[in-house]
Amino acid sequence: MRQIDHHIVGGAGGSARQGDVFDPNNGSVQAQVALGDAALLDRAVAAAKAAQPAWAATNPQRRARVMFEFKRLVEANMDALAHMLSSEHGKVIADSKGDIQRGLEVIEFCCGIPHVLKGEYTQGAGPGIDVYSMRQPIGIGAGITPFNFPAMIPLWMSGVAIATGNAFIIKPSERDPSVPVRLAELFIEAGLPEGICQVVHGDKEMVDAILDHPDIGAVSFVGSSDIAHYVYNRGVANGKRVQAMGGAKNHGIVMPDADLDQVVNDLTGAAFGSAGERCMALPVVVPVGEDTANRLREKLIPAIAALRVGVSTDAEAHYGPVVTQAHKEKVEGWIQKCADEGAELVVDGRGFSLQGHEKGFFIGPTLFDHVTTDMESYKEEIFGPVLQIVRAANFEEALELPSKHQYGNGVAIFTRNGHAAREFAARVNVGMVGINVPIPVPVAYHSFGGWKRSAFGDTNQHGMEGVKFWTKVKTITQRWPDGSPDGGNAFVIPTMG
Ligand code: NAD
Repeated sequence: MRQIDHHIVGGAGGSARQGDVFDPNNGSVQAQVALGDAALLDRAVAAAKAAQPAWAATNPQRRARVMFEFKRLVEANMDALAHMLSSEHGKVIADSKGDIQRGLEVIEFCCGIPHVLKGEYTQGAGPGIDVYSMRQPIGIGAGITPFNFPAMIPLWMSGVAIATGNAFIIKPSERDPSVPVRLAELFIEAGLPEGICQVVHGDKEMVDAILDHPDIGAVSFVGSSDIAHYVYNRGVANGKRVQAMGGAKNHGIVMPDADLDQVVNDLTGAAFGSAGERCMALPVVVPVGEDTANRLREKLIPAIAALRVGVSTDAEAHYGPVVTQAHKEKVEGWIQKCADEGAELVVDGRGFSLQGHEKGFFIGPTLFDHVTTDMESYKEEIFGPVLQIVRAANFEEALELPSKHQYGNGVAIFTRNGHAAREFAARVNVGMVGINVPIPVPVAYHSFGGWKRSAFGDTNQHGMEGVKFWTKVKTITQRWPDGSPDGGNAFVIPTMG
């Protein structure tokens, strides 16, 4: 059996506990991952502490050169990385490449870190006084990541944390831990000093050890909301800087004037791509007006019937299996619940079986109509290939749905009416908005983050928000007197007036 071990300085040395890593395409256990503890984390932190000062003192241009080389190496290894990712996650190869590419775009941003880290300067803030600021690394940062983007999310965090001069320790999802280890190896190959990027595996025990470790100054978390909230509270109580992104239930509003063929194309990709296991998936569609709803439903049904569910190496497949048997059962449980709650089950994806892969964790695409806001299956995240139609009578009602939902990650509006789109973007109570863009994941030099229960903390991932998170601002007020005394002692707070 393949073993997946920690990637820390001095060698991992094994762990008493192990977890199963499945191949979702056929249901088998393909590897065992070590599940670490506080003692193992101590070793990684000691190595990080030893390596970080020299890395922080390395000029930013040289740090950027490591990012350039890392980007080249990831691109050269793209095929192998994508296959590794798909084999543990289940998403199709092209989608795995997208996962890696979106992460690489953050590395491209990090190639410009010398420019980004330039501080602010005010000459002559007072008589003979200048004020300037600099951004300094936190020291040691940690990232705790979910299973659904095993390349992109570790790269969101590690790229910015490392480029800004921190040592970084990642605790990836124990469901698909191989790609983060490979990325850490490529960082070393790219010239990153040992100890600056390490990987520790584990579950709650390791997460708690990270949150309690006195030498870890900042923790970035992405995962489900209850755990994000827990991580945020425990980390902050221990005096750390914490950003914790949680779950989502993104709505797609379809106005009567929208191009419905385009909407159906966009929706099927955004609702069912990656088997719906995306925090920026669109699992709720809100057609405005009965006529729009009926027309949309009529077009959605054949589009869903045409979807091809297959193994992740099937180049024709639109999406692959979900990540584990337990997750498959959970999603199927939600399908039953939604039906029991009185929604109309238009297309039922349960019982889907792929010939030759009967033990794979597949779920067919599922469509519900007449879903209402009082249903638990509407309020909660399902995180599977399930699309729910919630009908709204008018624009105001449609705007209210995502605005009042407990999650506020992403939302999209489909319309040809610029005024409606502009109103919607300004008023909706959600962090990321797409206008005729179904999955509005911001580009790397902007930043990613939701509102409400989709994110705890106040800084987003990557872009300047990421730089803010991984650095502390120091502000210097300086005066170089010419030697002639300029008055007596000052006993009042100095002002520049
Ligand atoms: P998860 O919350 O189960 O796991 C995330 C991380 O937390 C993993 O590293 C896991 O080992 C750790 N963990 C699990 N249980 C824990 C516990 N009891 N105590 C402490 N740590 C624990 O999430 P997942 O299933 O891997 O990922 C899917 C979730 O992530 C979905 O809810 C999805 O919406 C969310 N997500 C959010 C974003 C975002 O940016 N908002 C992005 C991607 C995924």
